[in-house]
Amino acid sequence: MSSHISFFKSVENYVDKAASFTEIPRGLVEQIKVCNLVLQIRFPVRVGNDYQVVEAYRVQHSHHRMPTKGGIRYDESVNQDEVMALAALMTYKCALMDVPFGGAKGGIKINPANYSIEQLQNITRRYTAELVKKNFIGPGIDVPAPDYGTGPREMAWILDTYQALRHGEVDSIGCVTGKPVTQNGIRGRAEATGRGVFYAVRECVSFEEDMKKIGLTKGMAGKTMVVQGLGNVGSNAALISQQEGDVKIIGVSEREGSIYGPNGIDVEKLLAFRKDTGSIIGFPGTEHVGDALAALEIECDILVPAALENQITLGNADRIKTKIIAEAANGPVSADANEVLLKKGIIIIPDFYANAGGVTVSYFEWLKNLSHHRFGRLENRFQHNAFERIVSKVVEMTGKSITEREIEFLTRGGTEVELVNSGLEDTMITAYQQIRETFVQHNQIQDIRTAAFVCSLKKIAGDYISMGIFP
Ligand code: GLU
Repeated sequence: MSSHISFFKSVENYVDKAASFTEIPRGLVEQIKVCNLVLQIRFPVRVGNDYQVVEAYRVQHSHHRMPTKGGIRYDESVNQDEVMALAALMTYKCALMDVPFGGAKGGIKINPANYSIEQLQNITRRYTAELVKKNFIGPGIDVPAPDYGTGPREMAWILDTYQALRHGEVDSIGCVTGKPVTQNGIRGRAEATGRGVFYAVRECVSFEEDMKKIGLTKGMAGKTMVVQGLGNVGSNAALISQQEGDVKIIGVSEREGSIYGPNGIDVEKLLAFRKDTGSIIGFPGTEHVGDALAALEIECDILVPAALENQITLGNADRIKTKIIAEAANGPVSADANEVLLKKGIIIIPDFYANAGGVTVSYFEWLKNLSHHRFGRLENRFQHNAFERIVSKVVEMTGKSITEREIEFLTRGGTEVELVNSGLEDTMITAYQQIRETFVQHNQIQDIRTAAFVCSLKKIAGDYISMGIFP
């Protein structure tokens, strides 16, 4: 994360700082910090008439809860330190959200744009086979999911490979999450991380006293937002913040550069424009203001870095002119830049809370897979009939008339996506309230990130202690 220390080391430093506000024994903190298992694999892939050696990883950071859980990223800059740091963040993320998993992460060091779909499929299937060989995947062992550069398509290939090798295993569909809905996925998973970012920001800006300190009023409506990265997370965070939070998106950046639109950018239209033209540059009503990093320097209320780690560093921290940063990506702010931004009074909603929506809904998907039925299937009709009886009784008692539409609205049960979104919303709100309570109660804790690490650490330490390993 910083130019001086590694990404993993910087996560360790955050944990050490948080641990100093707790009574957790030193040795237990050390155990919590280390990676329990690190797998480094090299395998060949055929490209044309030749072969290429592919470098890949899977790290299981903590076995205090099983299975372990975390995405798989495809990116040219993947390396062991990065995967270890991301796996560690998953542990703290899951604990914070009360998602009962240990943390893990995987990575394949490739640029997916350089491979055909067939080659990507070969690489994904071979990687999965390696994980199976080493007992590094399974519904009770380690459950991958999408991350940067992967999506439902890759998850479907992983599931199919796993099932071919573990034929007849009754819970095999729970070996991976983020699958297409038609392949035992769950509705709402694709947009869950972006939706979670929206709930995180909405919760943060809902406290009048906190907003007053940074010169803002409470509430989302009318606040200006800049989003870096229009991948799955950034595009959904922007879209949902605009549609459900009435936020004004004034800046967006992507690989090709940054655009600024002070009168507001319609995200849905921008996404369609990029699909057609291959670029966000030239979108009507906006000006091109520089490269992919330029948008980070636009003055706004809420800045959402939703690309990769290390985007805000000592190199640009001074020029950041926002009040709130919601870390939709993992590790977008380097450790030294973090200090600069805190001194400027910026509220940073940390990555392992802000982007926890994905793993939260992955947990719902895994529950659905293990229970082998869709949420709501058993109870919806029963609930509908019960509500209908209540409504007709009320109508009878009051003598008031009611329309068919109103009856339908009052009596219907939740659809899968409604249940998923409400479970996600509740989880995000509860976690923020826990973090804020810790922050308010400890007056030496200066920032939300440290407060969030304190919450996670206490829960993980509690698990170890109740296992009897550390009396
Ligand atoms: N890759 C996502 C993350 O970093 C999702 C992980 C999951 O769903 O297991 O949280």
